[in-house]
Amino acid sequence: MDLARAAARLIEKKMRFSSGEKVECVISDTMIGCVADAAGCADQFEAAGVGVSLTVTPCWCYGTEVMDTDPLTPKVIWGFNGTERPGAVYLAAALAGYAQKGLPAFSIYGRHVQDAGDHSIPEDVREKYKRALAWVKTHCREGEDLNNQPSGRERKDREWEIVLKMTPIFRDLMIGHQKLTEIGFGKEAKGRNAIAGGFQGQRQWTDFYPNGDFAEVILNSSFDWNGIREAFVFATENDSLNAVAMLFGHLLSGTAQIFADVRTCWNPESVKRVTGEKPTGIAANGFIHLINSGSATLDATAQQKDARGNPVMKPFLEITSAEAEKCLENMRWCPANLGYFRGGGFSSQFRTAGQMPVTMSRVNLAKGLGPVLQLAEGWTIEMPERVHHVLDRRTDPTWPATWFVPRLNGKGPFRDVYSVMANWGANHGAISYGHIGADLLTLASMLRIPVCMHNLQEEQIFRPSAWGAFGMDPEGSDYPACRNLGPVYA
Ligand code: MN
Repeated sequence: MDLARAAARLIEKKMRFSSGEKVECVISDTMIGCVADAAGCADQFEAAGVGVSLTVTPCWCYGTEVMDTDPLTPKVIWGFNGTERPGAVYLAAALAGYAQKGLPAFSIYGRHVQDAGDHSIPEDVREKYKRALAWVKTHCREGEDLNNQPSGRERKDREWEIVLKMTPIFRDLMIGHQKLTEIGFGKEAKGRNAIAGGFQGQRQWTDFYPNGDFAEVILNSSFDWNGIREAFVFATENDSLNAVAMLFGHLLSGTAQIFADVRTCWNPESVKRVTGEKPTGIAANGFIHLINSGSATLDATAQQKDARGNPVMKPFLEITSAEAEKCLENMRWCPANLGYFRGGGFSSQFRTAGQMPVTMSRVNLAKGLGPVLQLAEGWTIEMPERVHHVLDRRTDPTWPATWFVPRLNGKGPFRDVYSVMANWGANHGAISYGHIGADLLTLASMLRIPVCMHNLQEEQIFRPSAWGAFGMDPEGSDYPACRNLGPVYA
């Protein structure tokens, strides 16, 4: 039991949900040595709402008599190594039993447990439209209007009012709002219990009304007029599959996400031809222009800093109000391109101003196969001012721009930047701070989503042990393993 307590302390210290809440561990009331103990623990865990099970053992027992057999609970077995008793032998036996029953489990072998402290959770605040409007007037600077026939001030002020009101409406549709009960909308007050959302925008709405860029950007950012808070996951253009990739990135990293078009591949020759300059450093092999109206988080302005002053995107609990302020200072709200958006609105204009490690990912659906995940780890790059402007003006400069260099490895889709773009399965990507590709790949295996493209090293690949039964090629075995086990959420 000491081993279980130590593991619980470690997990509760190290792990948090994206909402900032700490992960709570429930330890079985008894040690589990027989089927009756296992059944008692299953009842206890069901009542407590346990979502993931970790089995720790320093000793041998018969795996199939004691293991967790709930098909919906992801499982990990921690076979303690280094004692005179054979925890590792139990681990191997239980994993074989799990593989036999089609219940994939992860295996952890030979790690030590450390002690841990505690965390606390901050409270959210909620205020009214007037306060939001005052915040917009102070913190949201209007950018240049590139339209041939700009709308007048009165029209623009009206558009501000609409886009501002759209924001809490989107939010309330997702997670509800208590106030709605008081005015007779009890069901609406509960919201959709949504963990991700999106807006179609173009055409059905934007031919008549202001675009959704403001609402999408604010929801996807880690702050608004109520202060610093967890970013929502909110896609644009009704691209629900990009929302899924953003959700994965958000849940794994705890940070806000960039939604972007994977727009243009700039090879060094083209950059030289258009700007007169050849890219250097990590950009020497070219880069990809990520850009889309709306939906890119303001956290991606690269104005948050780590202890050494490097640009980062932080989990919201670590963001300071000065950093949130800096993000807002480093962007402009440009009157929307009326060619695209006849109803006007305001697009968020910024560029990711610094080199940060990021992971671009995407879930695609293929008929007959189901979902597949692709991911590319790399870096955002800061471009010389002039080069940025020349390249940016070739698209829509009122939109947020991120220059992305994927990490190449000379193989398959990662032999050059062009191939990364050519092998991308859709027009959009979800970009998450940090190199989280290994976590994404493991999560995909838990959800039985094969990974069709990645630039990870083989030693970073961690999947349930049952994958080993499908052969020695980690990519080739991913497909039959996922197919054989079937989707967790169908
Ligand atoms: Mn797009």
